[in-house]
Amino acid sequence: MSTQHCPRCAHGTIGLLFASPDPGIWEVLRCERCLYCWRTTEPDRRTSRDHYPDTFTMTAEEIGSAPHVPPIPPLRTR
Ligand SMILES: [Zn+2]
Repeated sequence: MSTQHCPRCAHGTIGLLFASPDPGIWEVLRCERCLYCWRTTEPDRRTSRDHYPDTFTMTAEEIGSAPHVPPIPPLRTR
């Protein structure tokens, strides 16, 4: 786990998904709340809360009320 915060939702629990075959080159991290993933070598606009575009930030309330897309249709009946 890392001590950094999610660029998208500011959650503080970040998991390590993958690490570079040569240790220390890059890591792929994932937010445990919104599931946003990023590689540590991506630009600040993808890896830093301070630089992440405001348009795409999310709050805990927005995550909780987000619709499931695409919706699952009702089962067909014969
Ligand atoms: Zn997040």
